[in-house]
Amino acid sequence: MKEVLVIGAGIAGIQASLDMADAGFTVHLVEKEATVGGHMAQTDKVFPTLDCSSCILTPKMVSVGQHPNIRLYTLSEVGKIEGEAGNFTIEVIRHPRYVDESKCTGCGACAEACVMKGRIKNAFDMGIGKRGAVYIPFPQAVPLKYTIDPETCLTLSRGKCKKGPPCKLACAAEAINFEDTEKTVTLRVGAIVIATGYDPFDPKLKPEYGYGKYPEVLTALEVERLCSASGPTLGEIIVNGKKPTKVFFIHCVGSRDHTVDNLYCSRVCCMFTAKQAHLVKDKVPDAKVTVTYIDIRAFGKGYEEFYNRVQSEGIIYRRGVISEVFKKGDKLFVRGEDTLLGETYEEVADMVVLAAGLVQRKEGLEIIRKLGVQTGEDRFFTGPSPLDPVETGLPGIFLAGCCVGPKDIPDTVVQASGAASRAMSVLAAATSGGNG
Ligand SMILES: Cc1cc2nc3c(=O)[nH]c(=O)nc-3n(C[C@H](O)[C@H](O)[C@H](O)COP(=O)(O)OP(=O)(O)OC[C@H]3O[C@@H](n4cnc5c(N)ncnc54)[C@H](O)[C@@H]3O)c2cc1C
Ligand code: SF4
Ligand code: SF4
Repeated sequence: MKEVLVIGAGIAGIQASLDMADAGFTVHLVEKEATVGGHMAQTDKVFPTLDCSSCILTPKMVSVGQHPNIRLYTLSEVGKIEGEAGNFTIEVIRHPRYVDESKCTGCGACAEACVMKGRIKNAFDMGIGKRGAVYIPFPQAVPLKYTIDPETCLTLSRGKCKKGPPCKLACAAEAINFEDTEKTVTLRVGAIVIATGYDPFDPKLKPEYGYGKYPEVLTALEVERLCSASGPTLGEIIVNGKKPTKVFFIHCVGSRDHTVDNLYCSRVCCMFTAKQAHLVKDKVPDAKVTVTYIDIRAFGKGYEEFYNRVQSEGIIYRRGVISEVFKKGDKLFVRGEDTLLGETYEEVADMVVLAAGLVQRKEGLEIIRKLGVQTGEDRFFTGPSPLDPVETGLPGIFLAGCCVGPKDIPDTVVQASGAASRAMSVLAAATSGGNG
């Protein structure tokens, strides 16, 4: 059996798929969203080098879309999984796109014509940017095929749109298909790589920070979209229509915190905060930027040096995280304790950024749990040995990326290549008549 299933097309699933496809195996890559890329596609620059994230990711996304050995199933999920290492039977459920992928040229005429254009919050932009009912999540999406959202499309949700409907009239390729339905594809594969990634922690579970109540309080992923030159503000840091001048970052939101039952460290927040503090200061040089922290975990190559660089740029690090964000009149305040100086403070802020941690994904994991993949106390997937993070303990099934626990992109890529190499051993053994 020379075929393999990869579940999830973030950087982990992309890297594992490219490694196996380049080695001559046929990869079935299943992604639940309309595009590959995962969370890395949402980030603007990467720490500690400040390289443009999409400059690294886009070529890999394009390779996945064009590779002769990769079959990409977007808007899809895994249904039943049966069998054993070397011989699994998998059902892939393909949700309707309502746009014929084989006809759509990606020209965008439908989106221009859509009566809902600019009225729907775009989840890729964390709801800051707007889209229509027919859309692509971002311009570098792979595949570059438009999708109709059945919840907000007037034809699909209410049975009636403006005469035409306009999207269909605009599409010269005749790709719009309101009759599209869910389809099931059955695959036979020798091994499985799970790369389902993470969800950001929901900061509404920490109401003391006022997220969702005060528009000045943002999450780190929202700030990634604000920083991005192709994002909803074209890279400008704008809050309440103005550039902020007093910015506070709060570390460890939802991490190392027994009140939300997340005792683990999310590992990347110290560094993405340092990166964002640098970017905010770079874009708004007059801003006073303060990072409040418990302690700094700058463990990777070049990370400590980056943290030192950011401090030398005038960003203030204050030990002791902020305990409360609140409003007095129309002014936003933060209240905290500086544990080095041993004093409490209350200061005005016009932007507060929550370094929300990383948590196990809520949805779509039942099928993986049914397979018997274990989860640890942190709810992330785990295997029999912490010294072998790609192993599930189940023959032929391997783990890659943040579905095992929070990690940065370099560690994600390394683990993805590790999982790919284990999966290829199983495939090779099955092909040569061994038992994997
Ligand atoms: C604000 C922020 C900034 C960051 N900045 C940096 C940085 O500068 N440098 C750095 O090294 N790291 C950074 N990180 C960490 C980085 O985001 C992760 O290391 C990386 O995205 C992990 O990739 P992944 O593929 O494991 O997971 P994800 O990116 O979560 O991808 C998982 C994919 O699987 C899909 N999926 C999930 N469940 C299913 C299912 N059941 N079926 C099919 N598909 C499914 C998802 O839709 C998604 O496409 C940052 C993180 C945050 C929150
Ligand atoms: S107008 Fe037709 S071909 Fe062009 S992007 Fe829309 S669906 Fe695709
Ligand atoms: S039918 Fe109407 S609402 Fe739906 S995608 Fe077309 S123009 Fe937009």
